[in-house]
Amino acid sequence: MDDPGFDFSVLSEFRDRMAEGDRADRLLAVMVERLVEAGLVKRHGRQRTDSTHILAAVRRLDRIELVGETRRAALEELTVTDEEWVAARITDEWARRYGRPVRYDRLPKETKERERYALTVGEDGMRLFHALLAPDAPARLRRLPKVEVLRQVWIQQYWYDETGGLRWRGPKQTRDRLSRRSTDRRSASGATAGRGSPDPASATVPWSPVEIVSPHDPQARFSHKPGKAEWVGYKDHQTETCDEGLPNVIVHVATTPAPEQDIDALEPIHADLAARDLAPAEHLVDGGYTTPAAIHRARTEYGIDLVGPVRVGPVSRSRPGFNKEDFHPNWAEKTLTCPNGATSPPWKPTLADGQPRLSVLFPRAVCRPCEDRLKCTGNVDGKGRHVLLLPQPLQEIQNRVRKEQQTRPWHDRYALRAGCEATVSETVHAHGLRHCRYRGIAKTHVQHVLTAAGTNIIRLHQHQPDSDRTRDTTRFTRLCRNLSDGTRTRTT
Ligand code: SF4
Repeated sequence: MDDPGFDFSVLSEFRDRMAEGDRADRLLAVMVERLVEAGLVKRHGRQRTDSTHILAAVRRLDRIELVGETRRAALEELTVTDEEWVAARITDEWARRYGRPVRYDRLPKETKERERYALTVGEDGMRLFHALLAPDAPARLRRLPKVEVLRQVWIQQYWYDETGGLRWRGPKQTRDRLSRRSTDRRSASGATAGRGSPDPASATVPWSPVEIVSPHDPQARFSHKPGKAEWVGYKDHQTETCDEGLPNVIVHVATTPAPEQDIDALEPIHADLAARDLAPAEHLVDGGYTTPAAIHRARTEYGIDLVGPVRVGPVSRSRPGFNKEDFHPNWAEKTLTCPNGATSPPWKPTLADGQPRLSVLFPRAVCRPCEDRLKCTGNVDGKGRHVLLLPQPLQEIQNRVRKEQQTRPWHDRYALRAGCEATVSETVHAHGLRHCRYRGIAKTHVQHVLTAAGTNIIRLHQHQPDSDRTRDTTRFTRLCRNLSDGTRTRTT
C-alpha cells in the first residue's frame, strides 16, 4: 500500500474484476477445496444455512424523495456527459428543484401538496424524456444508466389516465398482494376493473421485488420481517459445515434481493453445492427454507436430507380440533377417511397459489349429524367440510415431519442448526457484514464472499484439532481449561 506505484483505484478495479461472473464464488470454492484435501471439510457431511438482512449503501427515501432524487441524479449524469446539451435546456425552476440532493430540501408535508409536487417532478421528467427523444439529441444520452433508471422509476411511479393526464400512482395495497398471485385477476391492458375502481395494476406502484427505491442502487429493494426489521438492500445466505471435531467452515454464500423468500434461495444453494461435489448428506435449516416440496426435491434431486420444521396449518395453530394428519387418505381409491370414519367421494385435482393440490369435500349430509363438527375443518360455502391435500409424496412428507418435529430426538438433531445464528452474528458484528460497502448486488456479493473467506481463516487459525471445541474462547476460559487438563500448573 505504501508503494509509490500503488493507486487506490487499483483496489476498485480489482473489485470490479471480482464482481464479474462467478469469480468471487470461485475464490471461496478454491479455499474450500484445499480444506477438503486437508481433511478439514468433509464431503457429504452435515451443513446448516441461515440468512440475514443487509442494508444497502444508500439513504432510504420516501416516494416523493425518490422521484426528485432520481431526476436530479439523471441531470447530474447528463451534465457530466454533455454539459452543452443540458445547458441549452435547463430552466430556473430545474436549477431550484434539482440543484442539490433532495435530502437538503424541505419537501411538502400535506398529502395534497405532496401529490402536486410529485406531479410537477413527473412533468419535468417527461419534458426531459421528450428532449432526449428528439431527433437532434445525441443517442448516447438516452443510454446513460441513470437515464434508464429515471425511465423505469417513472413507469413505476406515474401513469397516464384515459384523458392523457399524468397521474401519481397510489401506494401498494394488500388486495394487490392477493391479486398478484393470480394473473387472471389483473388486467394486463390496464383497463378499468369492475365497480368503477381503477385497475390496481395501473393505479398502484409495483410490488417490492420490482420497485426501485433508490437511483443510486437500483438493484436494492425494500423488505421487512414483521415485528423485526424493515430495510432496503439485500439478503445474505451463509452455509457452513457443522461436522463434529472439524472447524465450522463457510462453504457457500448467496446474495439475493431483500424481498426474495428464503425458500427460493434453497434450490440454487443445493445446485451450487452439488456442482462442487459438496452437497451435504444432512442440511439443517429453519422454517423459512422448509416446505414438503423442498424436502422432497432435496432428497430426490441432490440426495440431501433437509431437516427443518414444516409449518403447521393456521387452523391447527389457532384452535384445538382435527388436523389434516388426523384424516387418512387412500391414494389408490383417491378418497379420504375422516377421524369419525366417514369416507369422502373421490377428490378432485385443483390449484392453490399455482401449485397442484387435491380438493376433498365431505358432503353436508354426511357431516350434519356429526357431533365433532366444531372440531373439524372448514365448511366451504355450506357445501360440506373441505380438506386440501398435497400430492401424495408431499403429503406423506408433511404428515411425517409434523409428527417428528414434536419429538425429543428430532429436537436434539435440529438443535445443531442454532450454531448458524452465531455465525451470522459473528460476520455481522465482528466483520461488518450488515452494511453494504458497495452498490449493486454483484459487488455486495463480493463483499459477502470475502467476509466469509476471512471468517474461515480466523476459524482455522483458532481450530484446535485435539479438542471437541471448534471455536476459540476467551483467554480466561482457555486458562481454566488448561488448568483443568494439566497443560498449565497453578503457581502459589
Ligand atoms: S364433520 Fe364430517 S368430516 Fe368432520 S369428523 Fe364429522 S363426519 Fe368427519
